[in-house]
Amino acid sequence: MFNASAFSAASPSSPLASTTIARRDPTENDVQIEILFCGVCHSDLHQVRDEWKSVMPTVYPCVPGHEIVGRVTKVGSAVSEFKVGDIGAVGCMVDSDGNCPECRRNLEQFCQNCTLTYNSPDKHTGGVTYGGYSDSVVVDQRFVLKVPSNLDLAGAAPLLCAGITTYSPLHHWGVTKGKKVGVVGLGGLGHMGVKFAHALGAHVVLFTTSPNKKEDALRLGADEVVVSRDTNEVAKHAGSFDFILDAVSADHDVNSYVSLLRVDGNLTLVGAPERPFPVAGFNLIMGRRSLSGSAIGGIAETQEMLDFCGAHNITADVEVIPIQKVNEAYERLLKSDVKYRFSIDMASLKNS
Ligand code: NAP
Ligand code: ZN
Repeated sequence: MFNASAFSAASPSSPLASTTIARRDPTENDVQIEILFCGVCHSDLHQVRDEWKSVMPTVYPCVPGHEIVGRVTKVGSAVSEFKVGDIGAVGCMVDSDGNCPECRRNLEQFCQNCTLTYNSPDKHTGGVTYGGYSDSVVVDQRFVLKVPSNLDLAGAAPLLCAGITTYSPLHHWGVTKGKKVGVVGLGGLGHMGVKFAHALGAHVVLFTTSPNKKEDALRLGADEVVVSRDTNEVAKHAGSFDFILDAVSADHDVNSYVSLLRVDGNLTLVGAPERPFPVAGFNLIMGRRSLSGSAIGGIAETQEMLDFCGAHNITADVEVIPIQKVNEAYERLLKSDVKYRFSIDMASLKNS
């Protein structure tokens, strides 16, 4: 074991603060990474504040962070794909059993024995996994991704969660040129959804509660922007969407978006608000519409997404912050004041 610097939360109400954690020495299949950048996902905030306690209660101290990009500093003897000095990336998962039906379909995110990057039982240490708000991480090579060399690393980090979480359902639901796609919420996930749907050739309509994000949404690739509090403007799109991606982090009326779907249209939830919400059955029945969810994406699809980003020069729009500003960043997320992902420059951890 060795000591790593990190930021952790001690309880649902405590701010993140500097700490030291123990990491395992790399085993033969492991890659050790010096973390350069880590994105700030709204899931980090939900988890740190124990807002998902009914499904994944938080174990404290909690070191969040699952949008990791860094430099390889050590590799185990059986590691073939990475060498010291390479850039490696890690997303929301660090292990899975590798032989269940889901793993065999490259859907490790649905493996019953999937180990998440943080707040999962750690089979190596017997404790809990610690995430990327840290100077280093040790991960099995099967869960380390390659970042195309043309991508800016601060902007590439958010691809590991916000990127794959939006790319995967767009592909699954067949978004291509000529489809009309809605994206709800212009935050970290939403802005990636807009970029990907645009790159896939769809007609993209962004629904936002923030009128001041209109210009940015158009620049990011939206063809139209609707301020969702204007119900007349929303209603103009009734029955017209092939697909809607809902990336909202808080309670809101999903039914009003389901009614915007055409026959056989689908609305996929990627946002994960704390509380359940009522679903209007008739909205689904009339039009054979479907409402579904999606969680990140498998490892092979994550690499495919990174390669797609390399080919199309896509990264997240980031505000790079020192880790000392992470608590302030959380408060800004709650005010929808993010343009459009915070990316922590991990060199700042040395100042803690
Ligand atoms: P974020 O950056 O904070 O963005 C959320 C956006 O939702 C805000 O910018 C805002 O956009 C909109 N919003 C916030 N409060 C709202 C309200 N009360 N009513 C309507 N819209 C509201 O969050 P994120 O990191 O993109 O994450 C979004 C959600 O996805 C979180 O719940 C997160 O946990 C979840 N998530 C899920 C997965 C998965 O695998 N399914 C992966 C990662 C994250 P506007 O200002 O444009 O309205
Ligand atoms: Zn995330």
